[in-house]
Amino acid sequence: MKKLSPQAQVSHHDVVIVGSGFSGLGMGVYLKKAGRNDFVILEKAGDIGGTWRDNHYPGAACDVPSHMYSFSFEQNPNWSRFYSGQAEILAYMKGIAAKYDLMPHVRVNSELLESRWDEVQGVWHLKTGDGNQYTARVVVSGIGGLSRPALPKVKGLDSFKGTTFHSAQWNHDYDLTGKRVAVIGTGASAIQFVPQIAERVSKLVLLQRTPPWLVPKPDGMIHDSVKQLFKYIPVSQRLFRSSIYWQAEGFALGFINPKLMTVIEKLARWHLSNQVKDPVLRAKLTPNYTIGCKRVLFSNNYYPALARENVEVVAAGAQEIRAHSVVDAEGNEHEVDAIIFATGFDVHDPLGPLHIYDREGIEVRQRRGGLSAYLGTTLKGLPNLFMLLGPNTALGHNSIIFMIESQIKYAIQCLDEMDRKEVSVMEVKPAAQDAYNDKIQEELKRMVWSEGGCKSWYLDEDGKNVTIWPGFTWRYWMKTRRPNFRNFTFGQRPSA
Ligand code: NAP
Repeated sequence: MKKLSPQAQVSHHDVVIVGSGFSGLGMGVYLKKAGRNDFVILEKAGDIGGTWRDNHYPGAACDVPSHMYSFSFEQNPNWSRFYSGQAEILAYMKGIAAKYDLMPHVRVNSELLESRWDEVQGVWHLKTGDGNQYTARVVVSGIGGLSRPALPKVKGLDSFKGTTFHSAQWNHDYDLTGKRVAVIGTGASAIQFVPQIAERVSKLVLLQRTPPWLVPKPDGMIHDSVKQLFKYIPVSQRLFRSSIYWQAEGFALGFINPKLMTVIEKLARWHLSNQVKDPVLRAKLTPNYTIGCKRVLFSNNYYPALARENVEVVAAGAQEIRAHSVVDAEGNEHEVDAIIFATGFDVHDPLGPLHIYDREGIEVRQRRGGLSAYLGTTLKGLPNLFMLLGPNTALGHNSIIFMIESQIKYAIQCLDEMDRKEVSVMEVKPAAQDAYNDKIQEELKRMVWSEGGCKSWYLDEDGKNVTIWPGFTWRYWMKTRRPNFRNFTFGQRPSA
């Protein structure tokens, strides 16, 4: 690293990574493995960990098995259970940061606010919230789509006099014991914490706008003998990981051909009738759209929690919040002491306060056609920028870390290619990006997220799916395994 000018306090690095979640840490490790040590990781918060640092609500866990929800280069034989909890996942991430000596590269409390391509110098100019400035030849965004909590669009949001918080900003200082609590939302987060708090509260009102499809979670503690086996015969863990991967890929068959989802739907219906005996409650909890259209959820304790006497499932969304109550979409008022928003994330503006300006000085949000990318990773008009978990790389069925690693390896090969060609700038050709997006949008039109009769965060306001990868992840791996460099233009840094 070299300081450009002592007055300006601008530090230059070859690579600046944004975010220290799985994407940012993984990128850091692969850069180090490639002998590229001139990089920093800008982290907006005071510590590393991304979504696994922020989501510490009671019962927070991953619904993808841990042996698959982990890096291929850092297999952990010691996972305590098949679906590990937040603390264990965060500890795994911190272990990686320590093992690969990433912390000296991390700049905490450094939220990136502006990123501007300098056509003359061939570098990115970056400004962070702490007043620091950076320049970088390459920027890798590891921001992810689930970092900015979203509140429901309801009247009177600020008028509540009790306690409110979002599931991703859990207030552990507020004791829920004996309180009347409204939970708004029934997605992947709510189904994990509702069973944990239902026993403690005096009354829980669950405002459910759309019931999720739910299947049993094949979870459990892992016996020490299995951990020993994985530790001393690592190939056994690799085989186990592969078996999880291929089982999950089976789900993608149903995404591609929604008719095949009937098998999973039967399992979900059985699960519901097995765990909920009251026909009125069961009717409220039965979805009316094709399974898979929204994320399929895994839980063994959600339905039993809803069957408790102190839990009321309101089959209507929240439409208004008043000083001491929540009013549902049918006009019924529910008096509560606290409201917990389990209303997800602002996925359609993942950049939040960050403004990225392309080579023509246009802010990316203002560009025609919105945010799109080639292979969800590189963007026309934005040279030397790699976006991890960019548009159409999210998953509903397998480990997102598989996608992240595919993208990181792709980006590293791009850096290597620039070195090989002895150039310092590369950019995806607009025609390649457009053709790629036309093709996947065509595929997505026939898939369960568009055909399944539901509205999910996967679709934008126009019904376009800009978040999810269409189908099998091995297809994504095939496409990113060897970059097609004919789809890029390469150039020398003008001032070099
Ligand atoms: P989400 O899936 O976006 O769910 C938001 C919930 O809020 C939905 O049930 C939505 O209802 C509801 N909602 C919004 N406005 C409402 C209103 N006015 N009244 C009533 N309900 C309202 O959010 P999330 O549960 O936080 O999950 C987000 C994503 O995080 C997941 O899809 C997943 O990718 C990830 N996640 C993963 C795990 C894991 O274990 N791997 C765990 C948690 C989260 P509608 O369905 O009607 O829109």
